[in-house]
Amino acid sequence: MSFSEEIASKALVACARCCCICNKFVALKIELHHIVERAAGGGDTFENCIPLCFNCHADMRSYDHKHPKGRKYTRDELIQHRDRWYRIVASGQSRSSFAPEATISIDNSNKRLDSTLEWESNPRFGFSFAHPSTWDRDDPTNADGNCFHDPLNPQVEIAAWGGYAVLSPDLYSWVEQTIGFIERDLGFRLITRIASGGHIFDFDTNEADSVCQTRQQVEGIRVVYTIEEKSVMFTVMQKFFQHGKTQFSIMCKAPSKIFDQYEGLFLDIATKFRILGPKSAPFARGNGK
Ligand SMILES: [Zn+2]
Repeated sequence: MSFSEEIASKALVACARCCCICNKFVALKIELHHIVERAAGGGDTFENCIPLCFNCHADMRSYDHKHPKGRKYTRDELIQHRDRWYRIVASGQSRSSFAPEATISIDNSNKRLDSTLEWESNPRFGFSFAHPSTWDRDDPTNADGNCFHDPLNPQVEIAAWGGYAVLSPDLYSWVEQTIGFIERDLGFRLITRIASGGHIFDFDTNEADSVCQTRQQVEGIRVVYTIEEKSVMFTVMQKFFQHGKTQFSIMCKAPSKIFDQYEGLFLDIATKFRILGPKSAPFARGNGK
């Protein structure tokens, strides 16, 4: 017996096709594991189901009770891993939507850095950010954020997204939590984590989509880290902002060997991030000067 289609769909949506233990986005390479084995009386229920990647699923079976190595997963631990991950996905803070990778081609010039910037607005969370106008859009389907790739080098990415401050109520705990996720990936190395202080955002009231008439000071934290994905080292600059109960992040990522070509652009774009207000309590539309 196995899980019904209905339960399988519900679980796969709840985990966003990420493994509930290592939290990697694995798309098709996911399996539904019985937390309590059927032989031990476990049922084919949503509550007894945990989506796992092939690696983590293999760990469930390979533990040798006669020659114990490491610590095996307990039933309660699996439930907690799963429930925590489901909450993260539900809160919009998982990064699974941005996970797909493109192939590398680093033999291009950086002439696109000179292209003009264009503004992108996200109505769901009320933010906007700039991106080079020639870059390809690759938005996730959930409307939480927006993503752009350099057409000359699709591994170079700018992604911005919003989420509600459910799991980590303040900016600092959110950063800690995010870094905690990243640290579980092989090859992670933190380069710097600095409080980037009070940013002043200017809002141009002449713009058609301008919704704020005041200047906002929003505290942010900038973190730079390297991460290895499919044998390629990437350097990532990520900024975190919180405004009321809404959290915003903008992530700029490039293969480490060409990151310096993009660093100036990324700094500029991260500083230009705008929190528009309508969905970002306490600044509502029209609450300007
Ligand atoms: Zn896994």
